[in-house]
Amino acid sequence: MTGAGGMVQDGAAAIEVKALHKSFGALEVLRGIDITVRRGEVVCVIGPSGSGKSTLLRCVNLLEEPTSGTVRVAGVEVTDPDVDIDRVRRRIGMVFQAFNLFPHLSALGNLTIAQRRVLGRSRPEAEEVARRNLRRVGLAEKEDSYPARLSGGQQQRVAIARALSMGPELMLFDEPTSALDPELVGDVLAVMRGLADEGMTMLVVTHEMSFAREVADRVIFMDGGAVVEEGPPEQVVTDPRHARTRAFLARVL
Ligand code: ADP
Ligand code: MG
Repeated sequence: MTGAGGMVQDGAAAIEVKALHKSFGALEVLRGIDITVRRGEVVCVIGPSGSGKSTLLRCVNLLEEPTSGTVRVAGVEVTDPDVDIDRVRRRIGMVFQAFNLFPHLSALGNLTIAQRRVLGRSRPEAEEVARRNLRRVGLAEKEDSYPARLSGGQQQRVAIARALSMGPELMLFDEPTSALDPELVGDVLAVMRGLADEGMTMLVVTHEMSFAREVADRVIFMDGGAVVEEGPPEQVVTDPRHARTRAFLARVL
């Protein structure tokens, strides 16, 4: 459901995944996933390593091609062979465990390059957007710093600001704090919490159970390429129904 301007309306599905299967050769990694994320919702995906969480996120913006099933983003079926996937991808911000900043560009340069090349913004316009987003992640004073001079947590916040500078309608996060020293995790989670408070639609793969408990509207537990259970965090994280969820939480909590 899209409005006249192409924006998704409140309560409409921002992401709709149906019967999604993904195999790599003989390895069946996703075995029929059904997930809906509504506009403004924060959904956390938890589950053991190898359960297919990253593959699921990568199928949402077609970094991986699904073997079968459908994925809709903001009402557009991205699995339709005729879709302009670059246009859809521009509406999706993605943040990975590895920050993937350009080492030869300053923080400001990292935030302006795609705006200029992909969106065709002028330098002053791109810089204005970049500065606004560096402020948003608490790094206004670091615009001239190169990645090597920033801490891991600061680099990840630059990566988030870079994604935000493209004006995404939704954000995908794949374990954004897993590569960080423990003392740097909090600043990144605080930025993500702020985005959630602003109403950003977010699908977040994370092992940070306190973040899932406090920020998520819903938590999805995946194991073996399938959704085992999902529900509000106070149910899934605090009072899980399935033995597999309980066993996983016993290991990470
Ligand atoms: P998670 O993010 O939950 O740890 P992944 O989605 O990364 O899980 O991986 C799920 C399974 O798919 C793993 O067994 C992994 O080795 C396999 N896998 C992921 N990407 C590829 C690929 N490009 N080629 C082959 N196997 C892959
Ligand atoms: Mg992963």
